[in-house]
This record gives sequence, structure tokens and C-alpha cells, in this order.
Amino acid sequence: MQKAELTLYLAAPRGFCAGVDRAIKIVEMALEKWGAPVFVRHEIVHNKYVVDGLRARGAVFVEELEECPDDRPVIFSAHGVPKAVPAEAARREMLFVDATCPLVSKVHIEAQRHFDAGLQMVMIGHAGHPETIGTMGQLPAGEVLLVEDVDDVAALTVRDPAQLAYITQTTLSVDDTAEIVQALSQRFPAIVGPHKEDICYATTNRQEAVKAIAPLVDAILVIGAPNSSNSRRLVEVGAKAGCSYSQLIGRADDIDWRALENSRAVGITAGASAPEILVDEVTQAFRERFNITVEHVETAREDIEFKVPRVLREVS
Ligand code: SF4
Repeated sequence: MQKAELTLYLAAPRGFCAGVDRAIKIVEMALEKWGAPVFVRHEIVHNKYVVDGLRARGAVFVEELEECPDDRPVIFSAHGVPKAVPAEAARREMLFVDATCPLVSKVHIEAQRHFDAGLQMVMIGHAGHPETIGTMGQLPAGEVLLVEDVDDVAALTVRDPAQLAYITQTTLSVDDTAEIVQALSQRFPAIVGPHKEDICYATTNRQEAVKAIAPLVDAILVIGAPNSSNSRRLVEVGAKAGCSYSQLIGRADDIDWRALENSRAVGITAGASAPEILVDEVTQAFRERFNITVEHVETAREDIEFKVPRVLREVS
């Protein structure tokens, strides 16, 4: 039977960002330097393929520091950790390496700077996400007020409306966040914002690329994990940009082929924690079922790279 024609639009940039790349390198280098097991507090990045690969090489993933022995290295994930975590590791004299993305650390520093200046913080973010927990945990309990949407802004009770600043999670929807910032500025005209917004370059670029492919396709598939904030935002951005079928998939096995039966153009992207090998796998799965033409839609070029911590660069 003849295969149907289908055009695959691959969004670029997609997949690994500099922070994820660095975090994975940190675990790999730690395993090389200190041997297995190396403990990792929380999934180093939100991707099962990556986590399973590192686990096979001797990384042990735990949720809390108390699950780690004192005498093995521990790595903190790219999402960042509350201040109490490295403090406890230091108290236990553990060897620890912080894989927090430098762009998340930048937000931590911002929060501390505003706090030192006497401002109360409002964080725009998702409750329960490790990055939100880590950022809120930079300041004493109760100092950071979390808002998830415009309704939360209306319900906020602040100490002093003239002494406020806001920060955001790095992986939010650029457009939804702009609405929340507008609501905050309307309600609290004196509120201070970041010099440059906290949503990172990788999140912004991946959302722009999805907006560019959305009008060209019948369906968008975002490769990413259900707990990956930036991947879920890509699904929403695709839908908001007018694509009626915008879906998150972990890998090729998750594709609902019946839903794509009548599609003639499909957009593919990947969240910042999804490796390119999964994009290749999905492309191959389409090739097996359709006669495909691949088009690349590039909206930005990225050449950002972050150094790994010095302790891993030093020869032991
Ligand atoms: S998505 Fe952005 S903030 Fe998160 S790890 Fe990547 S570069 Fe860093």
C-alpha cells in the first residue's frame, strides 16, 4: 500500500538547553571522577530517558538528602534547591555539587537582593514545582508569596504595597506571564521587576519556534515529560497559537496514530530536557508510516554554554 504524503516541520531551537546539558555533564563527570554510586537529589532533569541512562551508569536518584549516605557525593538538580539543603550537606560534611542552572541561580540572587533591600517578594510560578520550591526556599518561610495566575494576584495580601518585588520561574509561558505581570503592576504600581525577565532564553526561544510552526501544521507533538514545566508550556503555546491538536509525548511509542490519520503536516518540538535522539526516534516512526518531507523552521540560534563547577574540572 502506498504511504500518504506528510510534511514534518521540526522546530528549532528545540530540546536540550545549556542548563540541562551542564547538569547532565556534571553527573557524568562526577561518576567518572568519584566512581559509582553518585547520589542525585531529585531527577537531574525531567526526562526519563536521561535519568534511566544515568542510573544505568551508577547514579542513584533520591528525593531527599536524608536518603544519601555521608560518604558519597551528592548532586543537586538543575532546578535548584532551598538554601537549607546545601547547608545541611555542609553540616554533614558531604561532598556535594550544585547543578542548579546558572539562570535559576540568577533568580535566587535577585530574590536575596530584594529581600536585603527590605522588599517582600511575589513569585510567579507553579506550586510544588522543584524550581519554585528551590527559589522560595532562598528566603525565610513566608517571605515569598506565590501567584500562579491573574486570580491569585487579585487575592494577594501583602505587607506593604510600596515595598514589593516580583520574580518568576524560568520556564513559564511568556504570554501568560506578561498578563500576570500586568495584573501585578496594575494592583501594585510600585512593584519592582527583574532588570531582564526571569523566563530564560531557552524557554522563550522554544515557545517562539512553536508559534512559528503552529499555523503550518494540523498537529503539534511536543517531546517531553509530564513533569517538565517548559514542555507543558510548549503544548499550551501550540494550542493557543491555533493548532487544534497539540500533544505531549514521552517518545515515539506514545504517538496516537489514529488521531494523526488525516494529518498532512505535523510539527515536532522537544522540551529543554528532552534529548535529540528522541526527536530522531519520532521522525523515524513517521517515516515508517508516511512518505515524509522534513522541513526545518528555525526562529533563533543558540550558542550558550555553561561551565561545570570547578571541582569537576580539577584533575584529582
Ligand atoms: S530551561 Fe532555562 S533555566 Fe531551565 S535549565 Fe534550561 S536554560 Fe536553565
